Amino acid sequence: MYARVIVDVPVIDTDRPFDYRIPPALAPFVQVGSRVSVPFGPRKLQGFVIELSEVSEVKKTRDILDVLDVEPPLTEEMVWLARRMSERYMCTYYAALQAMIPAVLRSSYEKQISLTPAGEMFVPVLPEEQAFYQYIAKRQPVSWNKVIKEFPDAAGWIDEGIKQGRLTVEQVVGDRATTKNVTILSPAVSIEELETALEKLPKTAVRQKEVLSHFIHFYGPISQPELLSMLGISNHAIKSLVDKGLLNSQEVEDYRDPFAGRKFKPVTKHVFTAQQQAVIDGITEGMNPPVYFPCLLHGVTGSGKTEVYLEIMERTIAQGREAILLVPEISLTPQMVNRFKGRFGSQVAVMHSRLSQGERYDEWRKIRRGEVKVAIGARSAIFAPFQNLGLIILDEEHEGSYKQEETPRYHARTIAQYRGMRHKAVVIFGSATPSMESYHEARRGAIRFFEMKDRVHNRPLPKVIVVDMREELREGNRTMFSRPLMAAIHDRLSKHEQMVMFLNRRGFSTFVMCRSCGYVAQCPHCDISLTYHRSNRTLRCHYCGFTEREPRVCPECGSEHIRFFGAGTQKVEEELARYFPGIRVIRMDVDTTGRKGAHEKLLQAFREGKGDVLLGTQMIAKGLDFPNVTLVGVLAADSMLHLPDFRAAERTFQLITQVGGRAGRHEKTGEVILQTYNTEHYSIRYASQHNYESFFVEEIKQRYEKNYPPYYRLILFTFAHENVPLVVKTAERFAKRLREIIPPGAYLLGPVASPIARIKDRYRFQCMIKYKNDPYVSSAVHRIVRAFEEERKKTGITLTVDVDPQMMM
Ligand code: ADP
Ligand code: ZN
Ligand code: ZN
Repeated sequence: MYARVIVDVPVIDTDRPFDYRIPPALAPFVQVGSRVSVPFGPRKLQGFVIELSEVSEVKKTRDILDVLDVEPPLTEEMVWLARRMSERYMCTYYAALQAMIPAVLRSSYEKQISLTPAGEMFVPVLPEEQAFYQYIAKRQPVSWNKVIKEFPDAAGWIDEGIKQGRLTVEQVVGDRATTKNVTILSPAVSIEELETALEKLPKTAVRQKEVLSHFIHFYGPISQPELLSMLGISNHAIKSLVDKGLLNSQEVEDYRDPFAGRKFKPVTKHVFTAQQQAVIDGITEGMNPPVYFPCLLHGVTGSGKTEVYLEIMERTIAQGREAILLVPEISLTPQMVNRFKGRFGSQVAVMHSRLSQGERYDEWRKIRRGEVKVAIGARSAIFAPFQNLGLIILDEEHEGSYKQEETPRYHARTIAQYRGMRHKAVVIFGSATPSMESYHEARRGAIRFFEMKDRVHNRPLPKVIVVDMREELREGNRTMFSRPLMAAIHDRLSKHEQMVMFLNRRGFSTFVMCRSCGYVAQCPHCDISLTYHRSNRTLRCHYCGFTEREPRVCPECGSEHIRFFGAGTQKVEEELARYFPGIRVIRMDVDTTGRKGAHEKLLQAFREGKGDVLLGTQMIAKGLDFPNVTLVGVLAADSMLHLPDFRAAERTFQLITQVGGRAGRHEKTGEVILQTYNTEHYSIRYASQHNYESFFVEEIKQRYEKNYPPYYRLILFTFAHENVPLVVKTAERFAKRLREIIPPGAYLLGPVASPIARIKDRYRFQCMIKYKNDPYVSSAVHRIVRAFEEERKKTGITLTVDVDPQMMM
């Protein structure tokens, strides 16, 4: 037998399978999706098996050296999916495969074999096999490679042993075990013998008697910690019973449960609102019989989307199928997880980036082994290796974090579509502020559309007050709090109600704005904001390269208050303390939430009323639900509006809506105060009116006129090297090749310096293709990218290709 293997060579021109012979000793373990170690030139490399074959296409093949896992980490579907991913995102096949396995498996490790209780009892017929079992019994856990060295024919026995539940194989990463053991106690003799032993025990051995009585009544295995806590005794009694040969003590693998010890309230089901029921009925149609059923669920914050997810999930599980729920990392809060754990209990695996690698690996294995039905996680949970997937949900589907910003630069939305098609699954994109892409798809009927316009119990959406900061300045208020916001803070403090203050972390320092009239310099050719370059005091367009000098006075109104400025959360905290002595501020930003668990602790403190104000960045914008919050302040609503990105208006609208959604979700009504220098801008105006449709209509018009997504697709190419002339020349040569292949109606922009023009002393240049969705363009570009590999080797210039980029930096 032969295996076609994708080897870990990080260059695109060797990105094809190589044939290897499967030695008989490894034959039972080599499957599609297996990780293997193979010789490659003089090196030993890791690879993935993507195909098995009776024959080899090449005459001379070398042997596979080792199989790294007993159970292939990848399913056949994953192997197929990786192929599609590498084509779509122009990355290597290997990079795509690698992205789908848990981080623990990306490092090298050793396999170890041990006996299960059944294995301890097992007496093989063949004397050689007996010797093999004795060998393991004496040394367990013992390294796989050692066993094979000692017993070259052991492959069959190992395979059989695993299948029959006599052997277990564990993986040890470096010196850190990936699994944790727990001691299981079981009776070593018959019930009668236990009873005899009980009678013989001296009166004083009370503890031992208790233990024996337990096993007489419950004749079976139990974990040692459980028994100890049940009987309230120490290890001591147990040890003597084990020593007397009455009990067996056995170390077995235990899954670390990151939620262990936490009680999940079983969740009571609500009676659905009419609009929830309509959505549930509509989606259920797609489940009987199963078809690929992609849909957009547009529901305002608090309309009960999560309840809909729970219901559809329950129906999916009832069909014997599995479900994936993706949420943005920052909304993967205990609150969110509890709702699902409460309903589905131990059928849920949670993939959380705050878990340790070992913990994540445990959760992943439960999925791989089919021991759970639901996977909840951020972006990479889209690769949960379920085999009978019936449902994929992307909550807050518009979130930028669904796009991976390193190779492979996939978007979870796209992967969800691929997997959904393959499994004939329901795919729900849910949001209060859908991405332009999804809403456009829904409007033209490419995906189904469901809507929930009202909040549960008809709670009103919060009242939004837009404050013109230019006006504040004119009236002599130079602080970062407008007078209405000041008054509102005083009011809430006196009523002991809580507040959320939101400050966007990005933007602000990169663009120049007139504080008198709100004017922001725009590129005359591209309609995006110009970026300020402090070093040579110029304003520059990052799409086309247009440059102009920093203005002294505002070209619009002549004011001198034109400059770039910035403010961080720390500054806001100081200012709050200054104007409101005694105010208790809980600040959440990258500085205060670095440590594991810090994020949760801060939120818990706020929930317990230990703070008047929760102050933060994007982190606090979504998913959080605090009954006592009645005021949300957005300190600079337009801080994102002028980023050099065609999605700036969309992001602003989303952000304001999300932050506003934090107010008045419960009995108390809420108020949102938006401070802005751009009261007229459509994204601020419509966000303050909770009017998504009008925003969409205005924004889609812009996208159409400017040839941006969803009408056009983009591919962004970024070149980097220490030598500027070399980067420029290379980028220009590359652009010329692109120009030759792009069809009429497609555009090439650049090359220009990247918005971040130098990273780690490497200068960056970029160019971008805009094209109508056309597979020809994609494959032609892919060829050019592959051909560039030669040049990369010679010059050391790196090329990053970002298909459907989310960030234009
Ligand atoms: P969304 O996900 O759209 O923001 P949620 O599902 O979180 O909305 O619902 C908002 C609140 O309303 C939650 O506290 C939820 O428990 C409650 N809720 C949802 N559906 C119902 C219902 N049918 N009856 C009563 N309460 C509901
Ligand atoms: Zn001005
Ligand atoms: Zn421009």
